[in-house]
Amino acid sequence: MAIAVYQGVDGAYSQLVLEHFLRERGITGNTLGVRTYRDLVTALSSLRADLGVIPIENAIGGTVREAYDLIGEFELAPVAEILWRTDHRLLGVRGATLRDVREVLAHPLVIAECGKFLSGLEQARAIPCEDTGVAAREVARGGSPEIAALAPPSAAAIYDLIELAAHCSDHPQTYSRFLIVRPKHTARGETIDFGIGAARRKTSIIFAVSERTGSLAQALSILANAGINGDKLESKPYLGHGTERIFYIDFDGDVTDPNVAKALAQMRGACETFTVLGSYDAHVGEPVGASEVTVRPSLERAPERLAPEPIVPQVETPFPRVARATKPDGTVLRIGNVRIGDGEFVIIAGPCSIESREQILETAREVRARGALMLRGGAFKPRTSPYAFQGLGWEGIELLAEAGRASGLPTVSEVMTIDQVTRVAEHIDVLQIGARNMQNFDLLKAVGRAGRPVLLKRGFSATIDELLAAAEYILSEGNPNVMLCERGIRTFEPTTRNTLDLSAVPVLRERSHLPVLVDPSHGVGVRRWIRPLCRAAKAVGAHGLLVEVHPNPTEAKSDKEQALTFDDFSAIVADLSQIPIADAVLVRD
Ligand code: PEP
Ligand code: MN
Repeated sequence: MAIAVYQGVDGAYSQLVLEHFLRERGITGNTLGVRTYRDLVTALSSLRADLGVIPIENAIGGTVREAYDLIGEFELAPVAEILWRTDHRLLGVRGATLRDVREVLAHPLVIAECGKFLSGLEQARAIPCEDTGVAAREVARGGSPEIAALAPPSAAAIYDLIELAAHCSDHPQTYSRFLIVRPKHTARGETIDFGIGAARRKTSIIFAVSERTGSLAQALSILANAGINGDKLESKPYLGHGTERIFYIDFDGDVTDPNVAKALAQMRGACETFTVLGSYDAHVGEPVGASEVTVRPSLERAPERLAPEPIVPQVETPFPRVARATKPDGTVLRIGNVRIGDGEFVIIAGPCSIESREQILETAREVRARGALMLRGGAFKPRTSPYAFQGLGWEGIELLAEAGRASGLPTVSEVMTIDQVTRVAEHIDVLQIGARNMQNFDLLKAVGRAGRPVLLKRGFSATIDELLAAAEYILSEGNPNVMLCERGIRTFEPTTRNTLDLSAVPVLRERSHLPVLVDPSHGVGVRRWIRPLCRAAKAVGAHGLLVEVHPNPTEAKSDKEQALTFDDFSAIVADLSQIPIADAVLVRD
């Protein structure tokens, strides 16, 4: 029976990784949490534990140098590398709401990963904590609704906490890299069979070179000449040695390979200090823990929702998964610190097109100050004429992401083609499917697999049921986080750009559990008529609005007639504060 140590308490990511490793390798053993990394390596080197796990790198926060250094210092042997998809949720005590939160406890790397989310949580400050498990445990112990933790969803169940926000990381594909380590020398006859022998092996070394010009290049050329593929190179100051630096390198290959052994022997001669941490099984494929990061289970994960999976009703409908009967209480989408479908009226505002850095940063700042909860902006624009401004493309996506980070507002942008989906999803919080693509079924399937919430607009010639069937495509791929958006349909009436079909709101709310938004900007297409329709949308039961706002509408490169000024936007927000949220039950009656 192996004893496997990790730093932290129940619910830490390290524990999840360790349990995964034990299960995967068929090793029977118990996990044991210790207080510090130093306690962990001491437990291993004194043979009080058989294996342990150490986080060595985070995709956003960078290398955990203390971990690398300890492995070298304590003569531990790495066994395997595991990439773990981190999926941070904001967890609080029962009864707490996001607005109550004043302090967020989190591991420093998690604070780095959730920078945007935390900057949007204006009233709260982040407090570094040893690990995610401790953060969750402290919140549970304190019992205060003002304190929350960023931790994996599994910690909610362990400490009986509820989820106040999801999608908290700046990047949906963020992950951490862990090394499973064991003592280098074990007592005879007590070695555990780790089942080593992965398809790919990796080796890590730490070294310092003299300050001579070209000494690093010379050391690296030894690896290059041996045909060895480097995987990671990082440096830090070599304290006490002037301006010299210590380098960390991971490369493909195993020290038992004669070619690698020869290259390492040469490098040893060329370096001032040289430590081989060892060779280990490289992680192959996607990071593990992906099932925790896909948005699929998130809404069902909070303990108060641990009810069995809703059963898809056996009724003849083209949209069983989106049907209200499947989830009578309605879906609540959590996008960073914003909840849609949960009694708060959510305004998404921003320009039709992202046009420049100044334009989107200014708009983000202004709409946020005036009451918007999310930021919109088009980078890939579906324009009727091929000669009209087509959007800034990827540059626009990066600018929108920057404006989102600067303002703390989650972002929304349209994807027009399948090949845009994954890359846009890396930068933007919500993928918009525009009216013209509502029935682009392959695109719907692609966003169904992208791991990001989707804002699905009604096609201008689509019936309400066709909109619901389009949403069904997205849900059927495993993505439950869809919001529907009424944006006007084509009728014989030419005065307005489209006819905003507000009757769709109560119908959609009756037929489906998904949140419903209204976009009066594209609905009427004329600035001065947008304000009354915003009021109407809230009164009729929409969960939120999508409106176009521009610092200088007359200069807008697309949809200038319908762009609101910042002051128009303020007037709308003021109007809306006078209108109560339409009660869902009334809407359903
Ligand atoms: C938009 O929101 O910028 C847009 C193009 O909307 P729609 O797809 O509703 O025309
Ligand atoms: Mn537009």
